Amino acid sequence: MDRIRIFDTTLRDGEQAPGYSMNIEEKIRMAHQLEALGVDIIEAGFAIASPGDFESVRRISLAVEKPVVASLCRALTKDIDAAYAAVKGAKRPRIHTFLATSDLHLEYKLKMTREQALARAVEAVKYARNLCADVEFSLEDASRTDRDYMCRVVEAVIKAGATTVNLPDTVGYATPSEIYDMVANVVNRVPNIGDAVVSMHCHNDLGMAVANTLAGIAAGARQAECCICGIGERAGNAALEEVVMNLRTRGDAYGVGYGIVTEEIARTAQLLQTITGVKIAPNKSIVGANAFAHESGIHQHGVMANVKTYEIMTPESVGVKKTELVLGKHSGQHAFSQRLVTLGYTVEKALEDRLFAEFKVLADRKKTIEDRDIVALVEAATGHVVGENDWKLKNYVVSSGNEMYSTACVTLVKGKKTVTESAFGTGPIFASIRAVEKIVKHDFRLTDFQIHAVTESRDALGEVKIKVEDKTGTYRGRGVSTDIIEGSILSTLDAVNKMLDGATSSLGTGAASVVQHGGFEDDMLAGHTDR
Ligand code: MN
Repeated sequence: MDRIRIFDTTLRDGEQAPGYSMNIEEKIRMAHQLEALGVDIIEAGFAIASPGDFESVRRISLAVEKPVVASLCRALTKDIDAAYAAVKGAKRPRIHTFLATSDLHLEYKLKMTREQALARAVEAVKYARNLCADVEFSLEDASRTDRDYMCRVVEAVIKAGATTVNLPDTVGYATPSEIYDMVANVVNRVPNIGDAVVSMHCHNDLGMAVANTLAGIAAGARQAECCICGIGERAGNAALEEVVMNLRTRGDAYGVGYGIVTEEIARTAQLLQTITGVKIAPNKSIVGANAFAHESGIHQHGVMANVKTYEIMTPESVGVKKTELVLGKHSGQHAFSQRLVTLGYTVEKALEDRLFAEFKVLADRKKTIEDRDIVALVEAATGHVVGENDWKLKNYVVSSGNEMYSTACVTLVKGKKTVTESAFGTGPIFASIRAVEKIVKHDFRLTDFQIHAVTESRDALGEVKIKVEDKTGTYRGRGVSTDIIEGSILSTLDAVNKMLDGATSSLGTGAASVVQHGGFEDDMLAGHTDR
């Protein structure tokens, strides 16, 4: 059976999208999970784009064992050199170079003739092949490229040494039948096509990325470029979990194999959500909270009579586990640590002790502890290790009402120092964050603030995610508590401690990496966000 290589570009095309930037440690964590998921190729970044990009490609190359690690580069020697320098430490490095081939891009963007572009592509592939045995060439905007010219370029770059040839629908414009014809044309007409793997890279501007990727596979493509949850430039790329679950669920239609461990899909999507703070829509295919929820009575009746009436795949097949045992205040550390393992966490003893202590405090406030609560506790604790030089919350009091300004009095501790400050605001969260700002004596701007209930119960944990910004960059913080004021203070401290620790946790100050929600503080003043 033919096997589809899954090329994951969450850390390159995905990370490029506003709101999804990750720091190096976060990218490495994601890369390890992608390895566990069984992806064949990880595109780790665009090495020449910035020193930070270069360093993360280099570190990911050293961090993973099984997957090929690729860096994107334009068809320029300095780009190719940087890409190779970044991936050369990988067990299986790949250089991924690209050049646009549509007349539109050639004329207006590159100002080159078709012949010049063909020569440049061949030159770039030859240069890359001298450095690295695994070279991918992408014909940017392939779906709008003249079909005869496309065949000439594909034949020439394969002759020059390209081992993978990618035919992207860069702008998300094509229909599935056009993609099928495009790939079939190349597969049938290029004489040396057997020497390379044909790849798809489809964007989702019209919601067709997955359909187009599958059409390409049906026509003979054997590599699919995707991102977890379909993140990426503009409307994103083909969602990895959707492409793979189509191949699994409709094996009868596609008849191809893949190396993805589908049971790791839910965990991978969860990790992306945890790292970036961007929530997955409940109706998102495969990984949305409602993807396996049968609400209507008719459906429930059918599912109870025979699961196959309405369920085409099982939640277990994508790693959604049903909780058998609920933990509570009487649960011991052994049961707790077993649950951490089941949830996929390996934590050091010291952290486990701390998490267990937090779990006990939580169990006093909240009757039943669900897996989602434990995940929230672990995720809040693993982002940043609280050190001697960090500000910690001692206590706080707020007063708030509908006909008064909210006031907050907050006491923080740092080493032997204890400082109390009070502040007012249009809501208790605003007032508390202001009090923290006065204590740490460091100006920062809020760029994002989200509260959500971890579970549905009345005594649910509130998880607060925050982004703050100063001259050195943007910092994320996370805090969980049954009290949203406490969660807000904890998340602010998490972010501000990183900020004060220096640049190591910075997400950088590049335009793409800072999300400006504008008017957040104005919203707070208007009382829209702070409840
Ligand atoms: Mn793309």
